[in-house]
Amino acid sequence: MPAKDLLKPASRLLITEFAKRGVALKPTISYQLLAAAYGFWSHESIAQYGVPFEPFNEQYVNGAKPYFQLGMLRARISSLLGVDAEESKFLTLLVRDLLTYHYPLRVQALRILFDDAFTHSREMIFKILSAEGNGPTSLASAEIMAKRLPELPASTLAGHLRLMRNQLVDVGRGVRTVAEFISSAPTWIWCYPSAFMNEAIPSLADVGFHTWQPSDDWVPGGVNPRTEIGVGFVLLQHRSDSESPISYTVVSGVYSLNSTTSTPAWSDVKAIGDIRREVSGFRKRTLPELLGHPVERLPLVKLCPKCGDLYAAGAANLISCSCPKG
Ligand SMILES: [Zn+2]
Repeated sequence: MPAKDLLKPASRLLITEFAKRGVALKPTISYQLLAAAYGFWSHESIAQYGVPFEPFNEQYVNGAKPYFQLGMLRARISSLLGVDAEESKFLTLLVRDLLTYHYPLRVQALRILFDDAFTHSREMIFKILSAEGNGPTSLASAEIMAKRLPELPASTLAGHLRLMRNQLVDVGRGVRTVAEFISSAPTWIWCYPSAFMNEAIPSLADVGFHTWQPSDDWVPGGVNPRTEIGVGFVLLQHRSDSESPISYTVVSGVYSLNSTTSTPAWSDVKAIGDIRREVSGFRKRTLPELLGHPVERLPLVKLCPKCGDLYAAGAANLISCSCPKG
C-alpha cells in the first residue's frame, strides 16, 4: 500500500485527537508531525525518499515495534504549534500512543534493506531511523547498516530464496528441502507480507540488540529475545486438509545471530513451516482480506529452465533468476 494511503488515516486520527485536547491541527501540519515521529524533517522528505510504511501487529512486539524519534517530534510540536513545554511533552506521547495502539504504523525497514529501489537512499534513511537510538533494542536492519551487526549472507529477496532452497523444512508431512517443497505443488510467494498473518512473523523479524549478548530478562511469553532478521517473504501452498475447507502451508525464513563466539555471525537461514487455516474468527482476517485480492493472484515461484534459479513469475522486479536481463 502506498505510504500516502497509510499516512492519510493517521493524519486524520491526529487531527481528531488533538481537537479533543483543544488543539487545532491543520492537515499540512499533521503530516509534518507524522514525519517527525519517525525522524524525518519534513513530510516532503518522506515522499522524496519514497519511504514505505506498513501497519504492524502489536501482539508481536519483538521486531514489530515502531521506532519513534520522540525528541524530534517534541521539538517540531513546540515550533509548529507554539505550545509550552508541558503541552508539547503531552502531545508527543499522545502521538506515540496513537501510532502504537490505535493506528499501529511503522517504517517498512526490511524493504528498505533488501529492495534495489533504495540502493541510493538506504544509508540516509537508516541514519534517520536510528538517529536517536532506541534503548537496549533496535532494528537489526539499522544495526547492519550501521555496521554494528555483520552483513547478512544475502542482501536481496532472490539471494535469501537461493539460500533457503537447500534448507530443510518441516511442513507437517515429513521433513524435506524447500526446493522439494516448491516442486511438489504450485507455490505462491508473498513479498513483504502483512504482519497480521501470524504465520509470517518469522519472515518479518527485525530485532537487534545494542549489546550482542541477549539479556536474561524475563519477557512476556517466556521467550528469550534474540537478534534476528527475517527474509521478507513467505511461500504458500494449498493444503488438502479434511479439518478445514481452506488451509495453506506457509514457509518463512529467518536468520539469527550467533553471539556466543567472539566474532558474532549470522546463522544459516532457517526455514520454518507452519499451517494456516482460513477460519473466519473474531478480529482475524483471511488472506484475501489481508492481500486485497485472491491468494491465487500472488506470483508463483518457478524454476528457470535455463539457469536453474528460482524466480517469481510476473514479479521479476522482486525475485528474478540469474539469466541476463533484457
Ligand atoms: Zn534463468
